[in-house]
Amino acid sequence: MTDKIPTITRDGVIGYDATEIVTIDQATGAEFARYPVAGKDEAFAAVSAARSVSGAWWDLGFEGRAERLRAWRRQIAASGEEGAALIHAENGKPLDDARVEVLGTLEHVQYAADNAARVLERREVPGSPTTPNQRAWVEYQPYGVVGVIGPWNFPLLTPAAILVDALAAGNAVVLKPSQITPGVAEWLVRAWQRAVPELPAVLQSLNGYGATGQALIEAGLDKLAFTGSVATGKTVAAQCAQTLTPVLLELGGKDGVIVAEDADLDEAAAHVVWGAMQNTGHGCISLEVAYVVESVHDEFVRKISELAGQVRVGSDEDAEIGPVPLPSQTSIIREHIQDALERGATATVGGLDAVGERYVAPTILVGVAPDALAATEETFGPTLAVIKVADADEAVAHINAGRYGLGSAVFSRDRGEAIARRLRVGMTSINDALVFSMNPAVPFGGRGDSGYGRKQGEEGLREFAYAHSFTAKTGPARFSASTFGRPQGAMAGALAGALNRILAESGEKSD
Ligand code: NAD
Repeated sequence: MTDKIPTITRDGVIGYDATEIVTIDQATGAEFARYPVAGKDEAFAAVSAARSVSGAWWDLGFEGRAERLRAWRRQIAASGEEGAALIHAENGKPLDDARVEVLGTLEHVQYAADNAARVLERREVPGSPTTPNQRAWVEYQPYGVVGVIGPWNFPLLTPAAILVDALAAGNAVVLKPSQITPGVAEWLVRAWQRAVPELPAVLQSLNGYGATGQALIEAGLDKLAFTGSVATGKTVAAQCAQTLTPVLLELGGKDGVIVAEDADLDEAAAHVVWGAMQNTGHGCISLEVAYVVESVHDEFVRKISELAGQVRVGSDEDAEIGPVPLPSQTSIIREHIQDALERGATATVGGLDAVGERYVAPTILVGVAPDALAATEETFGPTLAVIKVADADEAVAHINAGRYGLGSAVFSRDRGEAIARRLRVGMTSINDALVFSMNPAVPFGGRGDSGYGRKQGEEGLREFAYAHSFTAKTGPARFSASTFGRPQGAMAGALAGALNRILAESGEKSD
């Protein structure tokens, strides 16, 4: 074993054959914890243990599951400071932002526990003229074992918002967290084990790199929910295609914000700077490009530059954004800033000097070419590209031409809804930023390269259940299209009758 212990790197990304993950405390750079890496055997064992309890979990019914989800919620809240400290250490975000992840998770658990029965309850559906004396209904049944693969940027909230839906719908879950934040997932699972001691295997976590994620998929999942980069999303979708395993993909984004001529510029500037810089810009729904109508462009740029210049960066208690836990991400941020500057943009705040080794300070790039990397590819850093547009129509056209389609924001006093409705994206905040991610009743997901499927809301609960349709005979089949020995001419008569009814409905006459 010892000869295989990998060198500690700042991000812990040390290759697929490593047997151990070494995480670091992002504030100090010192070793934080070691976790054994799960291989194929562990993945198969976890999926098999999950399968062995999935029936008992489903048999509890919606109320029985809701009761246990609420017990889990109490455990999460009781150890919330411990969870927040783990997020702060492994991800590096300020402690208060880590607490927000815990708070958000509590909200998601409550929504799923309170709403699963209503959304997924058995539903009677009407009969049809060709199926007389038949009752019909639909039940929403769980897939069985759901694998959840998560990212590092919101190591608790992102996978939790997904797995609560899967659990409430009656599935057992195996979570494979990011290799950068394994402790957070272990803490969540420990809270489950305390809350539901009779069925601990309903929620498990497996630590590891990409190979562990692959092994989890190979172990025979009934559904996979993947959150991460577009490139990995394509790889896992291709792997799932081999076994026709259904997959939910929550991938990257390049979220645009439109600042219309009638926007409240003070409000817009405050929300846009927060939406772009919070969490060090490490958000799939971070605002990355601002399309600003020319009549308000200069004033808006002045306001956001002033605010962005005040954002406190570091790991001290008063820091508002923390370090970049992935050195490779720092290189991407630098490349995007450099490309924009070389193509004529200017930095009103930050610039290349803002990109240090571990910390990246806010950067506002103005006059960015619409096809620059900073305007088209996910930067995932505390940067905002500003593009001047003639009107909101031009801004809408820019956003809709992008390959992603996750979140967005629109600032306008009078036309916010009208502009927002024309955007081909999954979510839009009007006169605010990122708000849709904080309400568990709001479906969350994207289109295009941002993936497909939805977490949160009623759609999120349905995502983890499949419709099982039932029909039951309630009396003799007086007339039925689905039987042998139909009377001669009965179907011809039925077809002629159907035509007459349709023509009567539309007021036409038969020839
Ligand atoms: P990533 O794609 O590098 O890794 C995501 C997860 O996949 C990790 O757990 C990783 O170990 C695992 N993985 C890697 N290779 C794999 C493979 N071949 N098979 C199975 N699993 C594999 O992404 P990341 O850097 O951790 O996360 C950042 C990305 O996630 C950004 O693009 C961000 O936009 C996106 N994200 C999206 C959402 C959303 O809801 N749409 C939310 C948060 C983050």
